[in-house]
Amino acid sequence: MRFNPVISELKTYEPGKPIEEVVQEYGIAPDAIVKLASNENPHGCSPRAAEAVADSAHLMYRYPDDAMRGLKSGLAARFRVDERQLIVGAGSDQVIEFASRAKLYEGAKILQSEATFAMYAIYADQCGAKVLKAPGIAHDLEAMYDLYQTHAPEIVYLCAPNNPTGDCLERVDVENFIEKIDHDTLVVVDGAYQEYAAFKDPRKALDPAALTAKFPHVLYLGTFSKAYGLGGMRVGYGIADPDIVDALYKVRPPFNVTTLSLVAAEAALGDEAFVKMAIADCFDQMARYEAFAKERGIETIESFTNFITLLLGDVADSTALADALLRRGVIVRDLRGYGLNAIRVTIGRAEENDRFFEVAAEILDSGAS
Ligand code: PMP
Repeated sequence: MRFNPVISELKTYEPGKPIEEVVQEYGIAPDAIVKLASNENPHGCSPRAAEAVADSAHLMYRYPDDAMRGLKSGLAARFRVDERQLIVGAGSDQVIEFASRAKLYEGAKILQSEATFAMYAIYADQCGAKVLKAPGIAHDLEAMYDLYQTHAPEIVYLCAPNNPTGDCLERVDVENFIEKIDHDTLVVVDGAYQEYAAFKDPRKALDPAALTAKFPHVLYLGTFSKAYGLGGMRVGYGIADPDIVDALYKVRPPFNVTTLSLVAAEAALGDEAFVKMAIADCFDQMARYEAFAKERGIETIESFTNFITLLLGDVADSTALADALLRRGVIVRDLRGYGLNAIRVTIGRAEENDRFFEVAAEILDSGAS
């Protein structure tokens, strides 16, 4: 069958291997598998969210409240923004899709850093748009600005903190950069890991209310998949000037977020103590990874997220190491596809991290990578 030529050539996004696949492929028992590959919250979610979902299970037969009143009012209060500034998606992935479809067309352009979240380029490709990449592991704002001036892209993506490297731009640099961008260019500021960055370093904390008040061309993205521990519920949101939100609404399918997901996210918003606990533990555990890496001559990038990137240099080959870990039931991300000899490891619970250190040490000591 022939398909739209724009999509025939496309690659599909490769998510972190699910536990089920490792069970099947390697015959490892599910409880012997440690998944540190998708930046989930290893503490699960707030018990309040789980209870709210259980209490609402009987509502499954109804379509969701398409106005998403409960969650929108929670988000509006949390961020001190107007509800007209909010759009909720099935994950922030879906909001990226809305932005792409609202702004891009065949021959349009997006600008991003070279090693950043893969979905920006995937949605751009689907729209037939061109992807411009500023080289470097970290966002090089000068290089990005040069490319912006030369190519006048329709969308510029800033991922702060950045996935898959974990580093984070400072608020002042983000603002100074956006200031120079024309108001007809949509600047997407992806704050998927902002809760972690704001906890660790206030200079990295972005305030979506202030950003969108100052800049009418900014779309800020947040998610419930990381700090709030609701990856399986698929809830993310965009915050922007109402004009941008109205445009994104035009490409949104109705009922795009399920009743139970809305309920879970709303309840999760009300439990900041859970989020703080998870983030504090994440950075405590991250220090163990930094120590492990240092001991073995492996470089790390200072991380403002719930994962850490290990730059393996000549200590190991990332593909071989990720594969050897996988065979032993430890799932991490190989970053070879980003041109890096590095692995990205989501910070797990203490005992999951113990397992990573044990297995990784055995592999590295045996020279099998
Ligand atoms: N942005 C970044 C930077 C991410 O890392 C992710 C998840 N991997 C997302 C957006 C999308 O998250 P979700 O769709 O689960 O909200």
